[in-house]
Amino acid sequence: MSDLHAVLEPPAADFAARAEAAYLGLALGDALGATVEFMTPREIQAQYGCHRTIRGGGWLKLKSGAVTDDTTMALALGDAILAAGGIDAHTIGEAFDAWMRAKPVDIGNTVRRGIIEFRRTGRLEAPPSEHDAGNGACMRVLPVTLATLGQPEDAVRTACRVQAHLTHNNPLSDAGTETVTLMVQDALRGADLDTLVRRRVRPLLDAFPLFDPAGKREENPSGFIKDTLRAVFQALLDTDSFETCLIDVVNRGGDADTTGAIAGMLAGALYGPASLPEPWLAALDQDIRRACMAQARALLSIPWGRIHSPSACGSTAAGE
Ligand code: MN
Ligand code: MN
Repeated sequence: MSDLHAVLEPPAADFAARAEAAYLGLALGDALGATVEFMTPREIQAQYGCHRTIRGGGWLKLKSGAVTDDTTMALALGDAILAAGGIDAHTIGEAFDAWMRAKPVDIGNTVRRGIIEFRRTGRLEAPPSEHDAGNGACMRVLPVTLATLGQPEDAVRTACRVQAHLTHNNPLSDAGTETVTLMVQDALRGADLDTLVRRRVRPLLDAFPLFDPAGKREENPSGFIKDTLRAVFQALLDTDSFETCLIDVVNRGGDADTTGAIAGMLAGALYGPASLPEPWLAALDQDIRRACMAQARALLSIPWGRIHSPSACGSTAAGE
């Protein structure tokens, strides 16, 4: 924990630029993957050969460079954190509600259910559910990751759960979301891929062996957090650049915008701003590009210590 601070702390300038790259990586992966969301690898191959161009289309019939709920929900979460000056569950719930009222291009079932329940009852934490192990809390977590950078690990994990539990209250979703957050934070401090695996993936597998990326190649990954993260971990481990990682993961098809988004935030933090392909940045919706960059910088400058959570969140520590 603290040893990493001492050993790996990079210069401040690189830090912020890497945070921007993580946010842009999220948007780029979303935009690239959306074209092939819900296709099988075979269908992608038949239609595109290797899909490696941001071109829109897909089942959502997107304009080229458009992003989906993965990115827009993250931006809504980030706006809520900036508005509250910290992680406040009620402010986040209101931001998610406003986001849904604005008719996003897509929305997951668990997300919709959680937001409707917040709207009706003010509920800040969904009841624990075995079935809500989707990837919807993980895909949008990056603003929390940036806002809590430098805080103690327990506080970071608590903050992850505050935003997650508005819609997803499940141990696999929590473990996956917290692991991705801690990996991104370590990468922003300069940790390499081997270090991320040793410090973050191994302990996840000790607690939840089903996330193990070894074994069968994850193709056509569903929205189940286990499938999503196996695909993302495999793509990270099998490649050595932002571009190759993202191409690998989205060509697996399935929930490709979301595997793209999660791989994108990790690979952006890991490989840094110079690794982001210029044609992809040029193709990305430029309003989204600017919003991601501005929000990344603003979130890094939030003062510590403002985490408001529903009471049940304070008592979790088990299970990791
Ligand atoms: Mn999406
Ligand atoms: Mn998706």
